[in-house]
This record gives sequence, structure tokens and C-alpha cells, in this order.
Amino acid sequence: PCRVLSGIQPTGRPHWGNYFGAIRQYIDLQENNQGFYFIADLHALTTVRDAEALRQHVIDTSLDLLALGLDPKKATLFVQSQVPEVSELCWILLSGTPMGLLQRCVAYKEKMDKGLPADAGLFSYPVLQAADILAYDSQLVPVGADQVQHIEVCRDIAQRFNHQFGDTFVLPNASVLDDSAKVPGTDGEKMSKSYDNTLPLFGTTKKIRKQIMRITTDSRPMEDPKEPEGDHLYQLFSLFASEDQKQEMAAKYRGGGFGYGEVKKAVAEASEEHFAKAREKRLELEQNLDYVHQVLADGATRAREVAAGVLSRAQKACGLR
Ligand code: ATP
Ligand code: MG
Repeated sequence: PCRVLSGIQPTGRPHWGNYFGAIRQYIDLQENNQGFYFIADLHALTTVRDAEALRQHVIDTSLDLLALGLDPKKATLFVQSQVPEVSELCWILLSGTPMGLLQRCVAYKEKMDKGLPADAGLFSYPVLQAADILAYDSQLVPVGADQVQHIEVCRDIAQRFNHQFGDTFVLPNASVLDDSAKVPGTDGEKMSKSYDNTLPLFGTTKKIRKQIMRITTDSRPMEDPKEPEGDHLYQLFSLFASEDQKQEMAAKYRGGGFGYGEVKKAVAEASEEHFAKAREKRLELEQNLDYVHQVLADGATRAREVAAGVLSRAQKACGLR
């Protein structure tokens, strides 16, 4: 068994990319490991500047995770800001982290390249993330491909500290799924809560179908053959399809004479079936918010116990005690 940790930002509602890249791993890994999964509200503060919206996203994301199968009897589910030890550890790690290391991080670089305003929170984001991971002696961090660089930064920060002050932190490894490391959104770019290109996990069938119909396609004439690899609609179809179903669809692409509408319909039907149970479960949970609040409170207590131990170890190592 190993210590597994991962977080999701309450910057909007979780989507297919979050599920197939990360959440699905949380649920598989909770079986034989010690899972710590959190709603990263401190991270979300760099984008969500509306108190009511942030509170709502935290509850919605918790409901989504529980509905999808995260089991609080098997894993610890909590809200990041309820473990203040992590913020303290973050400060300890900020000292000693070279500016250059953070300047190379993509999330920050992308914003700068686009000429968007970036704040010091976004710049130091990978250090808070390192504190999240290190505070629980995490060995494995299930994530999508976009987070691999940040796990490397975390290892780098931990190694520097261990080198200067003696063995203190466990070095984590990323766990990334080959077939869904970067799920495309409706526009073919990485599906992201902040890009308005997401396909939702929950909602009415009608609304979700409408979103699926929004998936962009090229204007290929019906009779033209097309290569499925690299087509984002085909990639989205593949998320739900068996090997046989994928080959059948690939053959249709290569043979020509089919319409994209047909593929979208198949995607809609497959996704409805895939998430039907979770959608039912969510409706139940919505009626039982007290239970959800209790789960988060218990989770925070358990998480704090672990984080306090690691914080104290780090404080002693660097001379703060
Ligand atoms: P934001 O746009 O606010 O950053 P996001 O959609 O990127 O939101 P996060 O909360 O940052 O979602 O990420 C939660 C987890 O989901 C992370 O492990 C991340 O790597 C993974 N993830 C996010 N988008 C995708 C995607 N398109 N494909 C696969 N994994 C993804
Ligand atoms: Mg993200």
C-alpha cells in the first residue's frame, strides 16, 4: 500500500478531462492504498475572486467526487484551506526555491505569454502544490499530463531541502494514464475549467447533449475518408469505447461516408450510460448536505494529524524549533 495524494481546484465544475485523467485514478487507488484527496480552494483563489462562487464550487466538487465513487471510508476527502499546516510548510519551502525554477513553470509562463495579468499567488503556485504533496509524505500523485512538470518541481524543492537539512521529505512520483493524460475539450485544446470548452459530468441530459453538439469538427465532405488518430471527436469517443468499438469507429473514419453527427450521438449515448449511476447518486447526496459537511470535517481532522507531524519534522530540521 502506498500514500496517494491529489487535488482538484474548485474553479468550476469537474469535467471529463478531470475524471478520465485524475478522478478515475483516485477511485481505483483508494482500494489498496491510503488516499488523501482534497479540494484545492487556496489554489482556486488565484482565479476565483467571488466568495459565494468559491464556496459553491467547493461543495459542488465534493458532491461530484462522492457521487463518482470516492469513498470516505477508504480515503480521506478534505478541503485544502482547513489544513493550515500546509500554508506554514509552504512558507518554509518558498525560502530556498529559486525564482528561475518557478519562472520556467508552464501555468505562469502561458499567462505571461498571453499578456494576461499574473499575481504572486499564481507565480508561487507550484510551491504551495509542493507543500500539499510533501505534507502527507505522499509517494504517488495521480494527475493529468499538465501536472507532471509541477511534480518534478516538487521533487526538486524536496531534494534541495533534504540536501541542506537532512532527510525530511519523501520524494513523490506522478501517476499518469497513457490513454487519457490530456483529454481534449470541445475545441480540440486541452479540456480546462478555465477555457470554456468542457464537457460536464453532471447535469440534465438535454444540456449535456447540447454541449456535445458543440464539439468542433472540420468541414470534411461525407464521402471523404479521414484519419481518426488526432481527431478530438474520435479521442472523446474512445474514452468510453472498448477496443472493438474503437476499431469499428476507426474503420468508419477511414472508409468515409459517415457523418460527425453520428459520432456525436454515439458519444452522447456512451457518456450517459457511463455516468448514469453517478448522476443518480449525486441527486441523493444533494438531499444530504449534512453528511457531506461531516465527511469534509472528518477528513480535515485526519489530514491535519498527518500534516502536523510532517510540518514539525520540517521545522525541527531547519531550526524553527
Ligand atoms: P483549471 O482550468 O482551473 O486549471 P482544470 O480543468 O485544469 O482547471 P484542475 O483542477 O486544474 O482542472 O485539475 C484537476 C486534475 O485534473 C489534475 O490532476 C489535472 O492534471 C487533471 N486534468 C485537468 N484537465 C485535464 C485534461 N484535459 N485531461 C486529463 N487530465 C486533466
Ligand atoms: Mg488546471
